[in-house]
Amino acid sequence: MSEGRGAKGRGCRDGGGCFSLLYITIPATPAIPAPLLTNEAKMTPTCTLINARVFTGTDILPNASVRVAGGYIQEVSTGPLPGSHRTDLRGQWVVPGFVDLQLYGGSEAYLNEHPTVETVEHIYQTHLKNGTTSIVPTLYSTSQAVILKSVEAVRQGMLVHPNGVLGLHVEGPYLNPEKRGAHSLTYVRPPDERELNELFDRGRDVLRILTIAPEQFSTQQLRALIEQAGSQTQLSVGHSHATYAQAMAAFDAGVPLATHLYNAMRSFESREPGVVGAIFDHPNVRASIIADGHHCDFAAVRIAHRLLGDRLFFISDATFANPPRPAYAHEDFIIRYENQRYVNHEGKLAGSAITLLDAVRNGVHKVGLSPEQAFRMASTIPAEILGLGNRLGKVQVGYVANLVVLNERLELTSVLTDGSVTAPLSWQ
Ligand SMILES: [Zn+2]
Repeated sequence: MSEGRGAKGRGCRDGGGCFSLLYITIPATPAIPAPLLTNEAKMTPTCTLINARVFTGTDILPNASVRVAGGYIQEVSTGPLPGSHRTDLRGQWVVPGFVDLQLYGGSEAYLNEHPTVETVEHIYQTHLKNGTTSIVPTLYSTSQAVILKSVEAVRQGMLVHPNGVLGLHVEGPYLNPEKRGAHSLTYVRPPDERELNELFDRGRDVLRILTIAPEQFSTQQLRALIEQAGSQTQLSVGHSHATYAQAMAAFDAGVPLATHLYNAMRSFESREPGVVGAIFDHPNVRASIIADGHHCDFAAVRIAHRLLGDRLFFISDATFANPPRPAYAHEDFIIRYENQRYVNHEGKLAGSAITLLDAVRNGVHKVGLSPEQAFRMASTIPAEILGLGNRLGKVQVGYVANLVVLNERLELTSVLTDGSVTAPLSWQ
């Protein structure tokens, strides 16, 4: 993995505002952050962003100011704030950093292949460059050994970036073979109580999301798993051929999420509304969606949003992104990057090649969402799903200063993590 090039993370410090770096010569190629923030950057930075169009997580505040100190948002004002370290954003957006609950890799490495802390760091740094300030690295169906190694790797990543690496998403392996998509039959298997006990014993503090096909579980097994997951691990229905009744029963029993709406799940039919119908019909369940234009039509995203509102949120589902790796070996097969997505030897979709910023832009420019709806789907709602809605996903007093600055065309101009500029890219 190459993490060596690019600028080091810089803090907002005395004598210069958060954006002091932006006044230096802009490099020919976009600067990328160093693998880890320097100690200097971890000092308690203080700065004030003025003349910003702030999306708070609920409202838009034009001509607003945000004061950041000690890694947290100290003040949000509808007018200019006084202070010496002020940066005039000239009307640019300041929005909460994006929170991606499903992504497999960075630009070169992915967790299934190399379940190490270096891969977790690589995924974090790759997506940070595009405004995703918090990630939940994801495994698709694999061996128990790789799952347990990934638990350790992600735990280490969480220690380095407490507000950046939020835990692990294990997608599978207890999925329905009929809806396995690109998951390998070698690993998709029936529920295994011993494996689940081991996973929760060793990874309860790390495992944030577990995608399952509920019809593969007996009623008793599902009830036991819901109890085991508790409030820390969110169960999610995915890669499922459940009927409407089976999916509804799982949601009613306490499964709160569904994984990539429309894809790899029983679709909506008039006589059998399937998993999709159950998601639409249930009052509370929340569903992720991949807005890359390949996994589902943009009209399908629009229809889902009309039906689900705040119950719909974006994931990138990125296998590789920014820039995407051309091809990789998955067991005996080669998975190739083709026309902005990954496909396996059978022509099945095997992940996207987008970041959440792409999903936001597609949401606004192709789906027809308002910017604030798209920002909520990329940040506020996923943070709430993880139970972190009181410190991430909003630009409000007391929240972690993970912020994204975008111009009016929704192009990224800067990223702040814990109040420090980590990805100064350009100036308007
Ligand atoms: Zn999937």
